[in-house]
Amino acid sequence: MGRLVMKFGGTSVANIERIGNVARHVKREVDAGHDVAVIVSAMAGKTNELVEWCREDSAMHDAREYDVVVASGEQVTAGLLAIALQTIGVQARSWQGWQIPIKTSDAHASARILGIDGGELVHRFQDRKEVAVIAGFQGINPQTGRITTLGRGGSDTSAVAIAAAIHADRCDIYTDVDGVYTTDPRIVPKARRLERISFEEMLEMASLGAKVLQTRSVEIALLYRVPVRVLSTFDADAGGTLLCDEEDIVEKKPVTGIAYSRDEAKITLLKIPDQPGVAAAIFGPLADSGVNVDMIVQNVSEDGRRTDLTFTVARSELSRALDAIEKAAPQIGYKEISADANVAKVSIIGIGMRAHPGVAQTMFRTLSDKGINIQVISTSEIKVSVLIAEEYVELAVRALHSAYELDTA
Ligand code: ADP
Ligand code: ASP
Ligand code: MG
Repeated sequence: MGRLVMKFGGTSVANIERIGNVARHVKREVDAGHDVAVIVSAMAGKTNELVEWCREDSAMHDAREYDVVVASGEQVTAGLLAIALQTIGVQARSWQGWQIPIKTSDAHASARILGIDGGELVHRFQDRKEVAVIAGFQGINPQTGRITTLGRGGSDTSAVAIAAAIHADRCDIYTDVDGVYTTDPRIVPKARRLERISFEEMLEMASLGAKVLQTRSVEIALLYRVPVRVLSTFDADAGGTLLCDEEDIVEKKPVTGIAYSRDEAKITLLKIPDQPGVAAAIFGPLADSGVNVDMIVQNVSEDGRRTDLTFTVARSELSRALDAIEKAAPQIGYKEISADANVAKVSIIGIGMRAHPGVAQTMFRTLSDKGINIQVISTSEIKVSVLIAEEYVELAVRALHSAYELDTA
């Protein structure tokens, strides 16, 4: 007997029939004697629709009201799953984020969980043997008392944070694929499921675009040592993937996985003064406007006086970034500015990279053989990322998948 958190994503709760399927998964664990907290996402496509409604209402909408709107998708599925469970004889009660409460920062639309008191949930398990069905993605800011949301894909984070708060024995993330793959199986049919992946690699995969888990959920799993599995909602016996420590992985290929992100845009400033203080004049205003800068490359100055600088930001933040740069133009002193939103980032990830020299070289050669131009490169100990034209993303990912022998076991 143990304590379990089960999380079901949008595809798993896409309609009433699938919610019935989820209820049967939960009943199986309850019948096995577990105390269960279930975290649900909104029905597939619902959050996109709600986001779009806010945009249509006003492009410059109030983020506090955006959260009120987009959090509603999870309210519906939490109630529906509680009904479905009761219908098959499982005692269940739904909870909204504010009722638990899941306390968060006040960064609306991308709030961070500050704390969850799991005591009340544990009491209810002991007193009533009742399944807690919790709306994912939502929280409440204790100072303002307002509803917040955790950023897209945030239900994963709700699940792992609840698991940490109630000291669950396991957190099972049920989704539309049967685990974490070597790359997105939707664009590479030859992608293979990984039995295990280290926390560090999963962190990189998630933050570099693999949306199977939200990055923050992996951070929390690592911090609180939550055992997390990724499983298929349609075939729970299909194996899944376990997140684990690096030491628990026997085979360390140079590259474990490949991720890509289309949420990228590139800005180039031409002929900026090559002198101390210029980088600060550029990146200061961007930080003040809340824009995250990712890759940066500065050219060598030919005449020692002027140079060019290129950096990337999230595509959704491009207009805010341009605005900030243009306002700071007199302090920066560039001659020209250009922006390109048709770029994408492709990354190779692997802890085995540390022990294998020449890994990046294989990436560069593979892309060049396909005629794909690399615009920017960035590296860390266990990843190499390149920025390329968006139209080549799928070609690049497939070619790299073969080049690193990920097509074969
Ligand atoms: P959910 O709604 O269950 O949270 P998501 O759509 O957020 O599901 O995440 C699952 C999707 O992540 C898969 O359908 C798949 O297309 C995508 N994905 C991207 N990279 C990977 C990967 N490396 N392994 C598995 N799935 C991946
Ligand atoms: N429904 C939210 C989203 O689509 C949260 C989630 O599914 O994890 O982003
Ligand atoms: Mg998701």
